[in-house]
Amino acid sequence: MKRPADVYDLYMSLARSDELKQHGLAYLKETKDLPMAVDVAEEAADRKKKILEILRGHEEDWSNWKWQLKNRVNDTQVLGKIIGLSNLEKKRIDRVSKAYRWAISPYYLSLIGEDYKEDPIFKQSVPNIMELFPGGSLDPMNEAHTSPAPCVTRRYPDRMIINVTNQCAMYCRHCQRRRNIGEIDQHACWEDIHSALDYVEKNREIRDVLVTGGDALMLSNQLLDFILARLQNIPHVEIKRLGTRVPVTLPQRITPEVCDILRHYPPIYINTQFNHPREITPDSKQACDALIGAGAVLGNQAVLLKGINDKPHIMRKLNHDLLKIRVRPYYIFHAKDVKGTKHFRTSISTGLDIMKSMRGYTSGIAIPTYILNAPGGLGKIPLMPNHIMEVSRAKVVLKTWEGQVVEVENEVT
Ligand SMILES: *Cc1c(COP(=O)(O)O)cnc(C)c1O
Repeated sequence: MKRPADVYDLYMSLARSDELKQHGLAYLKETKDLPMAVDVAEEAADRKKKILEILRGHEEDWSNWKWQLKNRVNDTQVLGKIIGLSNLEKKRIDRVSKAYRWAISPYYLSLIGEDYKEDPIFKQSVPNIMELFPGGSLDPMNEAHTSPAPCVTRRYPDRMIINVTNQCAMYCRHCQRRRNIGEIDQHACWEDIHSALDYVEKNREIRDVLVTGGDALMLSNQLLDFILARLQNIPHVEIKRLGTRVPVTLPQRITPEVCDILRHYPPIYINTQFNHPREITPDSKQACDALIGAGAVLGNQAVLLKGINDKPHIMRKLNHDLLKIRVRPYYIFHAKDVKGTKHFRTSISTGLDIMKSMRGYTSGIAIPTYILNAPGGLGKIPLMPNHIMEVSRAKVVLKTWEGQVVEVENEVT
């Protein structure tokens, strides 16, 4: 027989569960109509066929990353044929391209939906006239003053970046390193890569080296192999990291050959950049599976972008879908004041509201850290909704995810 106290506990638990269920159902309702990659899979297949026709490629070309790279679209006539653009739109893209170049892999292009103007793939890859609006700086992080050796960016005690190339499979319109993208694709020269590796070797406090660019996986297999081998041979380098967007923009780059190279140099951590759930496709999943098969640990660094992912339910869905393909959400970057990208910037409050909508409402492993890069290259600053209301010697006053105020003891008495 149940005691009255048990009955009361059960009653309270059921009432509480129902309250929680309502939060969960609200999310399901909000995300119900978000078009996912699977919903537009048929459209994407049609688009792929059309792109192959226009570029005079064959089915086997599509899966060849070198073909994809060589055939990146950067001509408004060709783009017009593929997605349909007005003359005014073409003229505007051509005007922007005089200031900032653009190029889109045929694969990424195939993901643009029928209603392209509001499409998150379109907005990230096709130039917009707003890029020419005034404001912003080309180097807000002052990276030019944090480079003690060629290709090196160092802002922290124990870790640093080697920038190995300025090339990408697609030039993001929100690129925060625009000034490096320039006019032509350029890998760092041998001498500079050697100097950067020598710098790592000579500084024994460096235990974590991040190879990025541009996109680290734009390097040839040989050069990648060479750099990883040298880092592997430096005893104080504990981990290697790669920065690459190819799982999103050119998953064909993740070949068995490149996986065989990565497999040789554990531990490797790879951070990529999915910004919208629509970018998570069967091809990108396959690329992530292959990288994980090669022993890499995958993370995601999204950028908070106005009109793309600046809504709580979209960001939450993105992080849920990333976990499904075994990519752990790592960062959400606040978009910096980079020249030509103002139309993508959100307020910091928008980012904080998004963070607030996550803690408690979803799994801890689905929650990245929201980061603002301090001006002047002073480093990353985590931004969080405030859970700490008051700290005194005796007590700490805290706020729960639902906004309840609780008091706990501070110093142990
Ligand atoms: C972001 C960054 C790193 C990596 O730092 P984490 O805190 O490990 O994410 C290293 N070097 C530079 C210059 C960076 O900007």
